[in-house]
Amino acid sequence: MESVPGWLFFLVAAVAGLELGGLATIFIQRWIDERPIFRPGRSVCPSCRHTLSWRETIPVVSFFMLRGRCRHCDTPIGGQYMLVELSCLAWSLALAHHFGPGLTWGVYLILGCLLVAGSFIDFETFMLPDRITLGGAVLALGAGIILPEPGWRDSVAGAACGGAFFWLLQRAYRLWRDEEGLGTGDVKLMVMIGAMTGLTGLPLTILAAAATSGLACVVYMLRPGAKGLKTRIPFGPFLSLGCMFYVLYGQQVLGWLNL
Ligand SMILES: [Zn+2]
Repeated sequence: MESVPGWLFFLVAAVAGLELGGLATIFIQRWIDERPIFRPGRSVCPSCRHTLSWRETIPVVSFFMLRGRCRHCDTPIGGQYMLVELSCLAWSLALAHHFGPGLTWGVYLILGCLLVAGSFIDFETFMLPDRITLGGAVLALGAGIILPEPGWRDSVAGAACGGAFFWLLQRAYRLWRDEEGLGTGDVKLMVMIGAMTGLTGLPLTILAAAATSGLACVVYMLRPGAKGLKTRIPFGPFLSLGCMFYVLYGQQVLGWLNL
């Protein structure tokens, strides 16, 4: 695919990112509302249940056209969905810049959009759908076999160790505090993420997740009206962020650290 002009590839990457972002918002909405995921059907306004036309569901564009409100009941809608679409767009362009046209871009684009969708669901419900974590794990292991990086051995080892490590953490926390600290969703998510980063990338990914979630905890606790140490934040989004950061810049960072 050397012959594809750069600008054309970036255009394709932008459209693909926005479209996948649009699909991700449909998945998020239906999963949270417990509606069938794959049945054809239009999106509805979460407040007045009015069916949205296709013109009201174009990624990002619709949000600005409607000024972020439902045309019928004037409730603000779509803010977080636009954030999902923009995240997928940014991810697609960053991958395109980093890997150029090819299979790696396509595969990581899909995996990253799954992580984005999972993160938003985790933020809203403190749950991670199996379709994302286990489906993503199968896809990531498949990718580990066909893509040159991180190589299938590292990918399988990463999936096994990521899952096992978080399973042990979950058990240990339960024994220590007699309550759930980490969800089973996080354990399954780590199988997927381990397969993506490989065993080599796992420590850096978890470190980045711990650092960013620690920072977020502090910001959360200092917020007016916060419940101090009782504040609960989901860990899945930070693991996803760490993983996506590693996919783009992990090798570089490991290079700087001489590892
Ligand atoms: Zn409405």
